[in-house]
Amino acid sequence: MSNFSFSRRKFLSTAVASGAGAVLLKGCVGNPPEPGGAAGGSASPAAEATPVALTPETTPETTKIKLGYIPIVEAAPLIIAKEKGFFAKYGMTDVEVSKQANWGSARDNVEIGADAGGIDGGQWQMPMPYRISEGLDTKNNVKIPMYVLAQLNTQGNGIAIANKHIGKGLGLDLKGAGKDYILSLKQAGTPFKAAQTFPNANQDFWIRYWFAAAGINPGQDVDILTVPAAQTVANMKTGTMDAFSTGDPWPARIVADNIGFMSALTAEIWPNHPEEYLAIRGDWVDKNPKATKAILKGVMEAQQWCDKTENKPEMAKILSGAGYFNVPVAVLEAPLTVGYKMGDNKADIKDVAKQGVLYWKDARGSVSYPYKSHDLWFLTESVRWGFMPKETLANAQALIDKVNREDLWKEAAKEAGIAEADIPTSTSRGVEKFFDGKEFDPENPQAYLDSLEIKAA
Ligand code: CA
Repeated sequence: MSNFSFSRRKFLSTAVASGAGAVLLKGCVGNPPEPGGAAGGSASPAAEATPVALTPETTPETTKIKLGYIPIVEAAPLIIAKEKGFFAKYGMTDVEVSKQANWGSARDNVEIGADAGGIDGGQWQMPMPYRISEGLDTKNNVKIPMYVLAQLNTQGNGIAIANKHIGKGLGLDLKGAGKDYILSLKQAGTPFKAAQTFPNANQDFWIRYWFAAAGINPGQDVDILTVPAAQTVANMKTGTMDAFSTGDPWPARIVADNIGFMSALTAEIWPNHPEEYLAIRGDWVDKNPKATKAILKGVMEAQQWCDKTENKPEMAKILSGAGYFNVPVAVLEAPLTVGYKMGDNKADIKDVAKQGVLYWKDARGSVSYPYKSHDLWFLTESVRWGFMPKETLANAQALIDKVNREDLWKEAAKEAGIAEADIPTSTSRGVEKFFDGKEFDPENPQAYLDSLEIKAA
């Protein structure tokens, strides 16, 4: 339970606000410049989608919203919806997609809201919308209700390791040589330093799951640090960090720049796992339900566009542009088209249609639909590591029903003419299976917790 009282003040030195963050980021390898502050630029201003005829039922209450994003592939549906005109197609003609210096800045900006110079919502790791709704990470623990509206993507993330650890058995399964090696570093007084991009959320969960599956206790045997995604390459270069977990293009960049190798893709740890989400302030959604659905329709169309093989080169070009990620296009194009170089004598992963980042559909069905069962896993995993109190599970359903607005996703999908077969009929995706044989049954999260050998709770 020690982590539950996590204080946002720990962050303030690195994540104060986009202004300070931007200064910090400018000196780092592959970091986006900040033309016009934190606002995103426009790679190809000409919108291509033809606007639909709006009816009184579909005319948005406002044409304007400000959505934050972090420059990793998870943001693609928001950027593509803007650049390809899918937001405008449904009447949202003034959507601003705004680059956030890091997750702490995104949290701060949604807390203040767009009217006060912040953002209305955007891209989030899980369970950040829950933590913000419950006042766990906010100033003075104020509760800012947020609604989870869609999942942006699955997969596309990985765990990168610095080159000095080549040949030490640091692969997907750490049992044996890898575990012995990591424990030996602790013995020697130089514990293995692994970074995530924000505590108590996806990247923190993936790296902890990976260690714990091998019997390495992430709370005792290694040091887990928080490093903004865009700084990870620089930190690995300077040797202040041994491993990190984040989304592309950063893992691919590590290998392309010969700084490190990939121990595992998240697609290997948990195939078709839930990754990042679109969530917006509840007050904004309550005031603008039709605009919310228009945004959802634009995002859904962008997600379908992003999954098409023939669109990947254009997608890489748009995302890599100076106004967005500002990275060499090849670094983004490789994982989207030919797959991942893993390094350290591991076979390359080439089946991008199966193990790459996916936005609309995967082997389990809908990617875009926000399954409540996935939110429950994030809450359960939060209890596992002591990020949320044990009582969370007893109240989880009520909390999920409040935050997860899959009903709006379904209404928007129907309005957009999405095929019936692509609209899930259950809010649960059913039993989830992990690479180490563990299973999460949403009907019995406690059984999952009981099955785990290493946990804080
Ligand atoms: Ca991620």
